[in-house]
Amino acid sequence: MANRIGILGGMTPESTVIYYTTIIHSYLQRFGDYGFPEIVIESVSFQQYVDWMNSDSWPAITESLVQALARLERAGADFAVIATNTMHKVFPALLKRSGIPLLSIIDAVADAVAANRLKTVALLGTKFTMSGTFYQEGLKRHGIATLVPDEDDQQLINEVIFSELGRGVLNDRSREQYLGIIGTLAERGAEGVILGCTEIPLLIRPDDTALPLFDTAIIHAEAALARALA
Ligand code: GLU
Repeated sequence: MANRIGILGGMTPESTVIYYTTIIHSYLQRFGDYGFPEIVIESVSFQQYVDWMNSDSWPAITESLVQALARLERAGADFAVIATNTMHKVFPALLKRSGIPLLSIIDAVADAVAANRLKTVALLGTKFTMSGTFYQEGLKRHGIATLVPDEDDQQLINEVIFSELGRGVLNDRSREQYLGIIGTLAERGAEGVILGCTEIPLLIRPDDTALPLFDTAIIHAEAALARALA
């Protein structure tokens, strides 16, 4: 196997771990031996990125992620996944400047939604993901329409991500609030829900709602494994 996977993680570590375990467990389940792909993890220190996001300093984020990708390349990664939805806001710039191929989380998720023959999905994520155009337009290119929560609900979802989920804190009250928001989006016509922040699947599980859920961390990690095995 020649394809060493690079994971650009730390955003947050709670979900970086999921990428690693998903790749390994999925391989073991399919092949039963220990021949899983080689993996390099570049785990960045996240606070700086949080500050940059909050001050709308996306060029600084881009520069820093370009350097992190170069470190993955020097460590021998043949391609990389950026293990967060939000940072895909600068994905086109990273794609241009990365020395190794990058697998887009949005493309992987769109393929999964299309495979389920859904046309309209709800998108939950950070406020940057829900209020920006990058994710919705990425899905639109695959013929998928997106519904996002109203502004107050976006604030609530974002607050829970940064003050709880990113720190490994899971609260029943937050789960109920998320499920209420999902219920509203279902009434507005959502046929499924993209858990478009790699930590949300820690809180919301498939049994919690009748709608199909798209776990972006697992979908992206599976795409990385498929690429490594191709
Ligand atoms: N992991 C999150 C995501 O998938 C949020 C953290 C970040 O802003 O990168 O968007």
